[in-house]
Amino acid sequence: MDEKLFDVIIIGSGPSGLTAAIYTTRANLKTLIVAGGRWGGQLMLTTLVENFPGFPEGIQGPDLMLAMRKQAEKFGTQIVEEDFVEGDFSKSPLVVKTGSNSYEGKTVIIATGADTKWLDAPGEKEKIGRGVSSCAPCDAPFFRNLDVIVVGGGDSAMEEATVLTKFAKAVNVVYRGETLRASQIMQERAKKNPKIKFIFNSEVTEILGEEKVAGVKIKNNKTNEESQMLVQGVFVAIGHIPNTTVFKGIDLDEHGFIKVYDHTKTNLDRVYVAGDVHDNTYKQAVTAAGFGTMAALDVEKFLREQE
Ligand code: NDP
Repeated sequence: MDEKLFDVIIIGSGPSGLTAAIYTTRANLKTLIVAGGRWGGQLMLTTLVENFPGFPEGIQGPDLMLAMRKQAEKFGTQIVEEDFVEGDFSKSPLVVKTGSNSYEGKTVIIATGADTKWLDAPGEKEKIGRGVSSCAPCDAPFFRNLDVIVVGGGDSAMEEATVLTKFAKAVNVVYRGETLRASQIMQERAKKNPKIKFIFNSEVTEILGEEKVAGVKIKNNKTNEESQMLVQGVFVAIGHIPNTTVFKGIDLDEHGFIKVYDHTKTNLDRVYVAGDVHDNTYKQAVTAAGFGTMAALDVEKFLREQE
């Protein structure tokens, strides 16, 4: 490792962090990625990615991340597979500490992503990518003529259900409450769709199947009645948890996502943000990569103006 002062330290190594690094290193900025003990982000947990432009046959999530990592390293990005522990963003240069090291950055890009909120029902975890998904735009084509459920009652659930109707035979939205939380327009669109049905006051208590999803157990939380449904797909759309808890003094929105001011700038001087940790709307690999590009260009402009 060279001396520990960097032009930019990127915290996180998903598509936004790695793309930001490709841009900053090509702009000749000395760049460090604090990648985390498990580098690569959510795409490391997926199988075939069919919607990332440039791969007409699709690409496996981990292969895509490895390619991005190689591209960032090729231009000189230094990557440490250490977890960010704490930072002091009141100082200049900014201080970034991991369990074993301390680094200094003239700027920081936070790209720590968000994790899907899962149901934590028995049978769920081991079937992620085998019938359990959290991304209909990514996985809906794998459910052509099959029966699926969507869990949740917000806009994401409505959107996932609507996307799924293009492929699935039938889509049941399973919602724990009685009155959907989703916006009126999204609800109406879903309710008008003849392929979508709703099961209210109900919770998925188990996901059934050996190798892949074969059904679900559902409990009505009013009557406590339990039933089983034969389905091949379970789309969990109950929200995301942005990875922000390690950052102090940073402004968050009402859902806990990092707030941006003036393009990709946060409320803290020299601290920028990219990807799902601030994006509660699009949540796609390609948009995360786009946000990474934006943050890198903003950092480059800021540093150029400082000279
Ligand atoms: P939300 O937080 O809005 O909704 C989450 C839903 O999941 C709620 O209905 C909630 O139930 C339910 N839920 C939460 N935890 C559990 C659990 N453990 N078990 C069962 N159900 C659970 O998240 P979304 O991802 O839907 O939306 C996030 C934001 O993104 C919103 O601001 C939304 O408007 C926006 N968005 C906009 C879109 C658009 O405009 N095209 C598309 C998608 C999202 P309960 O209601 O009982 O709390």
